[in-house]
Amino acid sequence: GLEIRLASRPNGWPTLENFDIAEVAAPKPAEGEVLVRNLVMSVDPYMRGRMSAGKSYVPPFEVGAPLEGGAVGEVVESNAEGFAVGDHVLHNSGWRDYAAVPAKQATKVDPSAAPLNAYLYVLGMPGMTAYAGLVDVAEQQEGDVVFISGAAGAVGSLAGQIAKLRGARKVIGSAGSAEKVQYLLDEVGFDAAFNYHDGPVVEQLKAAAPEGIDVYFDNVGGDHLEAAISVANDFARFAECGMISQYNAETPQPGPRNMFMMVSKRLKVEGFIVMDRAHIKDQFVAEVGAWLRDGKISYRETVVDGLRNAPDAFLGVLRGDNTGKMLVKIA
Ligand code: NDP
Repeated sequence: GLEIRLASRPNGWPTLENFDIAEVAAPKPAEGEVLVRNLVMSVDPYMRGRMSAGKSYVPPFEVGAPLEGGAVGEVVESNAEGFAVGDHVLHNSGWRDYAAVPAKQATKVDPSAAPLNAYLYVLGMPGMTAYAGLVDVAEQQEGDVVFISGAAGAVGSLAGQIAKLRGARKVIGSAGSAEKVQYLLDEVGFDAAFNYHDGPVVEQLKAAAPEGIDVYFDNVGGDHLEAAISVANDFARFAECGMISQYNAETPQPGPRNMFMMVSKRLKVEGFIVMDRAHIKDQFVAEVGAWLRDGKISYRETVVDGLRNAPDAFLGVLRGDNTGKMLVKIA
């Protein structure tokens, strides 16, 4: 099978040159491991951080080694108790056709309960991120006006719907194209949306939220964060989920110029990483799982076919090629 390796570390925007595709023999599962044939994998913005050297909340990818990331596959050989050939598992050894996965790092998933892609999206890490950010970090209340940046992506589109289902008065989204804005209004159920390329974010946000915002779910940082601070009501809560506008910057970018408003408006601005929010996982699965079964969640996927195309799918996430979740179909 194939595996995709980090060839070199990018400086600024990554390119296809930073990836290698290698033909390798399927590994032998050791005692306590399963051999998994991957079917679908996720490409995510956080992987850009792992391509760089330097300490963060996950260690960097190693040059010359296969990349890692969320994937769902089928067990084709089992050396681990509790796993049988034919089981489907969620694990973190994506970017390759075959992976030997320690049983402890594999979670069985049920293809009859939800489509396999859902375990990488609505019921998986992005869904949990949206839910934890709104419920646990921003402590969204009924009647809040909620602003979400990166709204047409995986996390953002789910955050918008969760906010609405949990009683937000108004949900406003920003995205990078007219088509995405239309998608937010027509399919996802946002009350207002704008294209951040159409003019200053702060002006567009003010127009959409003359009453101010109570919650900001930040996926973008930069001018979006500055605008949200400007338009925030007193005691607004910010869930700092990501800052994708900064990930490919070659030098550190200036911060919001209006930071003193965090003080004068008594804002709560809190960064979070989804893996620290396990205490809310059962609540997430129960609440979002029920909405999904009842057809209350709309989700779109942008699926790229073939493991060979995974590097370009990943670059596509950074470019904004995706509406909803970007996934790679491996087999
Ligand atoms: P998305 O599906 O939202 O894909 C990324 C999107 O970002 C693109 O589609 C693009 O859409 C947008 N984008 C790219 N560059 C810019 C820019 N300069 N300004 C504004 N938007 C831009 O990815 P995810 O849903 O997986 O992730 C969304 C955010 O959540 C990211 O910041 C990610 O790092 C973060 N995250 C954080 C987690 C945590 O634990 N804290 C966990 C998971 C994700 P467009 O066309 O609109 O520009």
